Amino acid sequence: MITVPFHHDLVVVQGFLRFSRAVALLVCAVALVVLAGWWWDRPLLVTIWPGQAAMTANAAIGFVLSGSSLLLSQNPAPWWSGFGRWLSLAVLAIGAVTLLEYLWMMDPGIDHLFAGPPAWWSGRWPGRMTEPVAVGFVLLGGLGALPLVRRWLYLREGLAIGLLVISMSGLASYGIALVGKSGMPFGRMPIHTSLLMLLATLGWLCVTPTLGLTRVATADTLGGALARRLLLPALLLPAVFAFVFELLQSWLGLSETLAFVLLALFSGGAVAGLVWWVANLFDELERQHRKSILLRNDADTDILTGLANRRALDEALASLLRGQREHDAMFSLLMLDLDRFKSFNDDFGHLVGDQVLRITGQLLRAALRPSDMAARYGGEEFVLLLPDTDLHGASEVAARLLDAFRGFAWPQRTVTVSIGVAQAAAGETTEDLIRRADTALYDAKHAGRDQAVAAIALPQAVRAETFPHAITGP
Ligand code: GH3
Ligand code: MG
Ligand code: MG
Repeated sequence: MITVPFHHDLVVVQGFLRFSRAVALLVCAVALVVLAGWWWDRPLLVTIWPGQAAMTANAAIGFVLSGSSLLLSQNPAPWWSGFGRWLSLAVLAIGAVTLLEYLWMMDPGIDHLFAGPPAWWSGRWPGRMTEPVAVGFVLLGGLGALPLVRRWLYLREGLAIGLLVISMSGLASYGIALVGKSGMPFGRMPIHTSLLMLLATLGWLCVTPTLGLTRVATADTLGGALARRLLLPALLLPAVFAFVFELLQSWLGLSETLAFVLLALFSGGAVAGLVWWVANLFDELERQHRKSILLRNDADTDILTGLANRRALDEALASLLRGQREHDAMFSLLMLDLDRFKSFNDDFGHLVGDQVLRITGQLLRAALRPSDMAARYGGEEFVLLLPDTDLHGASEVAARLLDAFRGFAWPQRTVTVSIGVAQAAAGETTEDLIRRADTALYDAKHAGRDQAVAAIALPQAVRAETFPHAITGP
């Protein structure tokens, strides 16, 4: 079976790496702003926008470390990327220690370690991150600490999927938490913590754009184009819908039923829109594909008779001779020429002559198996290629054709044909094979037309009979 290797769009691959670097910088920047807020006791900076839950100081430190690790992971110097992995280990440790604190109900714990003096004085604590965020940091740290090699790919992607689940749950619960409906852990995740976690996960996935889950998104195929456009909306839309659902209820004072109806309309419309867009893309592609097949057929077809043209014949003949040479696959060739066609044209005109050529095309097609090929070689000369057919079989086909011409109800007068038959010999060139068939055709003409003559076989196929000989006479 032939396997076609994955081809990646280089521009897209570079774009993914740039995205990963940008994400790393953004994550660091936002987390530093939050840390500054803790240090100088500016509530707005730790919540990013008013009235929201604060990102804890140790979560912000975790994000700074993870963002730096992500930035360093692309550094070609092994020392720097190694150092980056140690930073990720520290991220993992922050998450793990917080989880242990939850487990053993320790208080105060790591959350107090990062309390700057101003926060201490003002009696505000940098706080303990929620359990899902702590688990998220264990996963995020693991993701960055594992080497970026194929061997660890499945584990890294498992961690990334876990992180997506946590950050998406955080985003989706946000709206619910906003209206004070839920005290569940995901609802208590600050929105910017959820967002940074989602971004950092995507950033880590994009560091290895040609491997694993991201591999298809950088492929230079339709699948790649679809993945690039649809994956992120597919991830975010449900969270956005949950958010909008709560918003409709709480801010606009809609009843739950009405909000559900609107949500159904909204999500149904969005999914239908995506499907419509994908369907359009596929439709366009399919029509282009069909057009190229039609163009290709046009290039291979003789307009008058609908048979293969000279170009297609040359290709098929070369391929059969290659098969003959490499796999000893036999085949035969028939060369046909209409009898006294010039006088037919003279008597009835060229247009009627053209009609005869069209009928000839139909008669040839009707006489052949699907694997055979009939081609118009020139004016009123035709060539038939018969794979897996020896001289004997080809002579039978020739005899059938002679009968078909004789038996056809020609409108003006009976048209007959003369045929030269040749079986390709091992190592023979196209020219030699055509020449042998042509010589046999000439002999058929010479012997009185309306008959087929087998060409002299080359040495390995010498027979007792003398060639050329007539297969069937008039
Ligand atoms: P022979 O039996 O020896 O083959 O006699 P012939 O008259 O058929 O001789 P030849 O094969 O040399 O004839 C070629 C003639 O075929 C010349 C031309 O009038 C006719 N011809 C070639 N191409 C076309 C075509 O596209 N349309 C028509 N109507 N006639 C064509
Ligand atoms: Mg001719
Ligand atoms: Mg002729």
